[in-house]
Amino acid sequence: MEYEDLEKLLTDYSEEDKELIKEAYKCARTLHAGQYRQSGEEYIIHPLNVAYILAGLHADRDTICAGLLHDTLEDTGIPKEYISEHFNEEVANLVDGVTKLAKMNFSTKEELNNANTRKIITSIKDDVRIIIIKLADRLHNMRTLQYKTPYKQRENALETMNLFVPLAYYIGAYRIKSELEDLSLQYLKPSEYCDTLAIQRELEREKNPILEEMQDNIHNKLLEYDLNNDIKIRTKNIYGIYKYLYEQHQKLNNIHDLFSLKIMVSESLDCYKALGLIHSMYHPVPKRFKDYICNPKTNLYQSLHTTVFGPENLLVQTQIRTYEMDQIASFGLPSYFKIKNGNTRIIMQEELKEKFQFYKSLVDIDNKFSNNEEFIREVEKELFSEKVYVYTPKGEIIELPKGATVVDFAYRIHTEVGHSMIGAIVNDEPVKNDYVLENNDRVRILTSENAYIDRQELFKNANTNYARRRIRNMEKYV
Ligand code: MN
Repeated sequence: MEYEDLEKLLTDYSEEDKELIKEAYKCARTLHAGQYRQSGEEYIIHPLNVAYILAGLHADRDTICAGLLHDTLEDTGIPKEYISEHFNEEVANLVDGVTKLAKMNFSTKEELNNANTRKIITSIKDDVRIIIIKLADRLHNMRTLQYKTPYKQRENALETMNLFVPLAYYIGAYRIKSELEDLSLQYLKPSEYCDTLAIQRELEREKNPILEEMQDNIHNKLLEYDLNNDIKIRTKNIYGIYKYLYEQHQKLNNIHDLFSLKIMVSESLDCYKALGLIHSMYHPVPKRFKDYICNPKTNLYQSLHTTVFGPENLLVQTQIRTYEMDQIASFGLPSYFKIKNGNTRIIMQEELKEKFQFYKSLVDIDNKFSNNEEFIREVEKELFSEKVYVYTPKGEIIELPKGATVVDFAYRIHTEVGHSMIGAIVNDEPVKNDYVLENNDRVRILTSENAYIDRQELFKNANTNYARRRIRNMEKYV
């Protein structure tokens, strides 16, 4: 990795931006001079790789500069002011935000870890780009984990899986998320990792001719109807396959998204035209259609998903989206804001508050728990756990942690809906309040303004603290 490699990714950036990035590189190189990584390489290789990952995400100029300088405060002892004077306030704040809590005083390592984890998570509130730099930093450290001791490897892999993978999901950076998952699995379950890797390679070798045939057929069919398109073949990542095989004990040929064709077209309406054409060529698998264009995921992911029976009855998931949606799906927030332009930090934080459901929950939890350990337990349960996706009567998709009940659903819709809930209908059938939601459930909450509400009973059937807190604060019926 040389500076020239980074430069090649910067063709879209203005001359002025490129100059500042080069300045940041030179500055970091000078400051880290004489420092080496455990691999024996010069230290500058690490920040350079971090900046390379960030440029690959189309992050803004200040984020890339901060990526280059991210270890200087901690490792070279310069003050924050040095960065604000030589660059700008934004870069200085970003580097400061990324700098670890290492120098703070805690009596145990666990307390330090908890405080550190909390600081990472809550930095989303100040500037989400801090998380994006942290993710790039972690990704490069995970790629070079072979130089650490086995104990460190496990510790880092575990933290990556528990903390950085969910964060990557929340900012919608799927590429980083899936690479982090695979790298973590490699150190956490080495033998399962090897077995699954072998299975993945073998599947790819065996099924690629079928997928290439479908790719050609769909590409040409869409062109026939004047839909310019690009199609990519994708096999599920190793961790994804591992989960199906080892955790859910599924059979390979029942997995609906082991193979995907990512179909990119120009306009959003073209996605629906393409969908119609694909269904006319390959029969769709029932109940495997999802419209994330009308109902984006909470991390703004947009796409149409439909699984079809390909040749030889191979199940193939097609993901149809525009080029712009694909940028956001691959890179997440950084590229979303690149599209919008303007003052990056202000726009990002505004949009986060408004559009990202997890941001509200996070602020909620942060205000509620002063103890770091409780805070982390709560975040893990409410935000980082597995998700279930259900529909409102209007067809809106609501994301809840797995294990959520209809009561949790009601409170997620609105506190008042929860407070006046007298029952629930799921898929046209009445259910009790302890009903645990499953993927694709259609949920309608029955409410009444003046019915007696059994607060105890609601509380007992709420499984998320989000709902429980609201029930506890319910004043009307105390
Ligand atoms: Mn670093």
